[in-house]
Amino acid sequence: MKPLLLDLQPQDYPLGGYRRTQLLEWVYTWGVSDFDSMSNLPKAMREELDQSYTLEPFINTELVSSRDGSVKHLFTLRDGQKMEAVYMPYEDRKTICISTMVGCPAGCKFCATGRLGFGRNLTPGEIVGQILAVARVQKIPPKDIRNLVFMGMGEPLLNYEHSFNAARLMLSPETLDMSNRRVTLSTVGLAKGIRKMALEEVNVKLAISLHAPDEETRRSLIPTAAANNIEEIIEAAHAYQEVTGRRITFEYSMLKNINDHLWQADLLAKRLEGLISHVNLIPMNPWEGSGFEESTEVQLQAFYDRLESLGIAVSVRRSRGRDAGAACGQLALKQPA
Ligand code: SF4
Repeated sequence: MKPLLLDLQPQDYPLGGYRRTQLLEWVYTWGVSDFDSMSNLPKAMREELDQSYTLEPFINTELVSSRDGSVKHLFTLRDGQKMEAVYMPYEDRKTICISTMVGCPAGCKFCATGRLGFGRNLTPGEIVGQILAVARVQKIPPKDIRNLVFMGMGEPLLNYEHSFNAARLMLSPETLDMSNRRVTLSTVGLAKGIRKMALEEVNVKLAISLHAPDEETRRSLIPTAAANNIEEIIEAAHAYQEVTGRRITFEYSMLKNINDHLWQADLLAKRLEGLISHVNLIPMNPWEGSGFEESTEVQLQAFYDRLESLGIAVSVRRSRGRDAGAACGQLALKQPA
């Protein structure tokens, strides 16, 4: 298998000087996926590049469109493994939710990806390549996608080096030049990784999937949570905030009669004392065989009101792409119907 050019950082590109700039422009500004189309490079150079590298991390893409305009892209990687990215066009911005792994080892009980188990880590080029491939399918320039969340398949902090190398590729002025204020990494709460992330020069935003403020409930939902208790996660969040000054988002999937009790809202508010935070309540996105139900509207509102009355910044995030199996927790490699 030829090496993937997208795995390289700009400074490691095989060409020098203005040729390197031209090559980077073809890849990241124009989103070209074959060397032969790079008309301002000499033919011999294009042929040499083609013999040494590939620009295409995927051999196939299938699409599932949602009524709300979101599109799930089901990619087949060069080794035949599959993973997904979700494109969400809003009126004022275009957002993409990308994956960092095939499957996921975290095994969150309410998440269809967790049920798949772990396949493998994605390389930096396979991660950033999702943006380029989505842009190509959607017929937009890659740089039109300005918002990005690491919230698809996988736990990015368990694929730390590749996830951060991919973030470097997104943020570099020589590539996609994304703003670090518009890139969010979501973790299931790995305290060590959060502390390490605080020291990265690639200063992306942090979202922590807490889902429960008490150990017992959290461990019943996230089997791997035993390795990182809530206290450790909150301490790591404080450490991250001290260094970065960044507000932290806490994701909270609302599960009927599991984590939507008012005493849990009280405990959550207590846990977040002293942190600049924002809580996203996410009505659980149903999937076949999950065994969970979404909280009722009444319970969701009561939980929201309680948090708000306790001074917590809170919002309800209704996931996009539900009918296409593209919403949070639904990514399960389902083929188009
Ligand atoms: S919620 Fe995230 S961390 Fe948990 S299993 Fe799903 S993809 Fe993995």
